[in-house]
Amino acid sequence: MGDEVLFYAEKKFVAKARILGLFHNQDLAKAVWGVDRDEHTWEHIMALGDIVEFDVPAKPLLEALGLGDFLRSLTLVSAETRGRLLHLVDPSAPVGQGTDEPPPSGGTTMRRDGVFRALSNLKVHINDRRPSRHKPITLLWAIGRLAAHQDRMVRWETFRDEVGPLLRDFGLPESRVTPEYPFWHLRSSGLWDVYGIEDQGAPPTQSKLAAARATAGFSRDAAKVLRRSLARADAIGLICSRYLDDVDREEVLERVGLAGYASASGELADGGNGREGRVPRRPGTSSQLERDPLLVECIKVMYGHACQVCGSRVETRYSHYSEAAHIRGLGRPHHGPDQLSNLLCLCPNHHVEFDRLAIYIDEDWAVRRNSTGAVDYQLKRHADHVIEQKYIRYHRGLCGRP
Ligand SMILES: [Zn+2]
Repeated sequence: MGDEVLFYAEKKFVAKARILGLFHNQDLAKAVWGVDRDEHTWEHIMALGDIVEFDVPAKPLLEALGLGDFLRSLTLVSAETRGRLLHLVDPSAPVGQGTDEPPPSGGTTMRRDGVFRALSNLKVHINDRRPSRHKPITLLWAIGRLAAHQDRMVRWETFRDEVGPLLRDFGLPESRVTPEYPFWHLRSSGLWDVYGIEDQGAPPTQSKLAAARATAGFSRDAAKVLRRSLARADAIGLICSRYLDDVDREEVLERVGLAGYASASGELADGGNGREGRVPRRPGTSSQLERDPLLVECIKVMYGHACQVCGSRVETRYSHYSEAAHIRGLGRPHHGPDQLSNLLCLCPNHHVEFDRLAIYIDEDWAVRRNSTGAVDYQLKRHADHVIEQKYIRYHRGLCGRP
């Protein structure tokens, strides 16, 4: 009990779960699986919990275990082997710093495009010329579930209890709290499944959903795409800027468990007090900062403390002051790398604006204001400072400007 089990299908691992208990129950087994020609059934039953669906190629793990490229039967591995090899299959296993997710295969790219097309073209009910926020708020909530490695599908009662208060607090003031609408109508987005209840023309009432034990959530494909951190950051940025522009992003993202996506630096944002407080610390070594102080010094010296956005240098009694800003944040959920190509030298004001997504950097290095898209400045770049576009792009995604 407590062991972890991976599920294999068609050369992939498709889910993991924890074994909560083992038991024999012939009647239950017959009811669930029936019997074979000899009247035998599969009476050894495992009760599972913490089920997480994913989709990763099985080959790297099978090869590491010396099993060839095809899994034929139940295979047991020791806890030590599991610890050593888990990162090969488990997307939620800790990854090394600076490890980007692998480039998506062709099929995934297609799915990703489809998901983003659907997110961009959400049909939202217009309420007194203002678009309703029911669907976008629900989508953020559902993305929050994926980010927390929860199951994509959820029972109506849970949905009602969790999404209802969000609609009340973040919906248009004049719109009613009707969680059954997004539960049902998000199907038209092509991103959403509803199980347990048939389409009978009119949308089902709350009591019908409860009686049918209906469940809803992202479609398998959409969930697969949005479980990836890059796509997730882009999707959150897109939903917030396209549909929830006048909602406090930090507040709504915090409520759905996505607080880290409200700023470029990630979790541990502290409302702007004590900037160093935001630098994540390794668990167990509370005094050890993850960022390399040499790199911080290096970027500041390179620019002589002049802000790469506005060019100003903050003067102190004996010297100057500037801040090293990670473009793709070091903290959760961004997991950006601590390297020079992911750093900027900024004045405190522009550091906050960059971090809180008020400004972003375009492909041509123009620094634009996110609220209007207007060019404020041109980013100043030292000849020896190579800035990786992929990090700038990640930050733009958070800004809803991929
Ligand atoms: Zn500045």
